[in-house]
Amino acid sequence: MEDEKILIRNASQVVTCSGFEAKRGKAMSDVGVIEDGAVAVSNGIITHVGPTEVVLRQVDVDDYLEIDAYGRALLPGFVDSHTHLVFGGCREEEFSWRMRGDSYMSIMERGGGIVNTMNATRSTSYDDLFEDAYDRLDTMMDMGVTTVEGKSGYGLDLATELIQLRVMKELNDDHPLDVVSTFLGAHVVPPEFTGRTDAYVDYIIDEMLPHVRAERSVTFCDVFCEQGVFSIEQSERLLKAARSQRFKLKLHADGIGPFGGAELAARLKAVSADHLSHVSNYGIKRLARSGTIATLLPLTTFSLGKPYAPGRRMIDAGCAVALASGLNPESCFSCSIPLLFALACIQMKLTPEEALTALTINGAAALGREKKVGSIDVGKKADLILLKFPSYKFLPYHVGMNIVDTVIKDGVLYIV
Ligand SMILES: [Zn+2]
Repeated sequence: MEDEKILIRNASQVVTCSGFEAKRGKAMSDVGVIEDGAVAVSNGIITHVGPTEVVLRQVDVDDYLEIDAYGRALLPGFVDSHTHLVFGGCREEEFSWRMRGDSYMSIMERGGGIVNTMNATRSTSYDDLFEDAYDRLDTMMDMGVTTVEGKSGYGLDLATELIQLRVMKELNDDHPLDVVSTFLGAHVVPPEFTGRTDAYVDYIIDEMLPHVRAERSVTFCDVFCEQGVFSIEQSERLLKAARSQRFKLKLHADGIGPFGGAELAARLKAVSADHLSHVSNYGIKRLARSGTIATLLPLTTFSLGKPYAPGRRMIDAGCAVALASGLNPESCFSCSIPLLFALACIQMKLTPEEALTALTINGAAALGREKKVGSIDVGKKADLILLKFPSYKFLPYHVGMNIVDTVIKDGVLYIV
């Protein structure tokens, strides 16, 4: 099926999000709409893009499976560039305790917190971790996601971290979605190292990184750089060691308080700094002048009832902003792209165009995939979605509703 040629024609809009690099500031408003557009695909790659009448003159329609997209908008597939999609157990009890106002400490005393997920992940079989994550990928794909990032970080010992990463490699091989893997051994200090954070950082550098490198399937190294978890100095030490082993870098930064994580990300030329709810004005300036993508996770702050990252100010300052779900079993058990669009526009005051750029080409750039996915350009992967409506503007407007009709992944058709 993969070498089949597909021609999608008469789309009310082809929204190209055209580009081969991240868009910053004002450029995020340019999504490149072609009215009555067409896209031709061959061998999973986009070969023609333009007004239907132009594309029809360039291809021999007899060679193509034709899709009449009249009344529907065609967009690039979404890129969810920050998730923790492989984990054991769920924490619905803990969520209900939090909703009734129980304190953080009392929840911890009852076995809550990240250690809960660590224990569950360590005791869940490879096959069960795989099956659960596979189902999550199906859900994401139904909402138009075609590339997703996943992090380890719930094993916090070498064996379980490697299992999480191997699950993600097998998901990338078996599931239609592309799964980009990130090593997050520095998610939190595990109980075995309580009070000895520097020793745990040494353990990650000396014992974990070389084995993770040997897996050859892992692109990024990430660190939870926050007050009381990993300091700026510890994060920098770890990330420099990772960089020397040819990992690309990501940071969980300034999500709990203004800690200087954004500045560190810019200084280390990290590919992305993620969360940023409490980024300082200076941090915004540094990100705007760097190549680092500012990845915002409004579903997480919504789920926690916390303030949103200053996405509007960041774009106005010239940052390249990406949006991601942040899916995890603790603070955000959701990968809802429809709700993500609504929160980004209604709460964070992004325009629909900026939100779309943030979930396509800028999401791709946050994974180093901007040359291959994230826009409808000739030569890129045919990762496309058709909406049930004639305009991309329905994405935030139809609040919380999934309006994806059809997903085309690597040139293969999937009806939602
Ligand atoms: Zn995260």
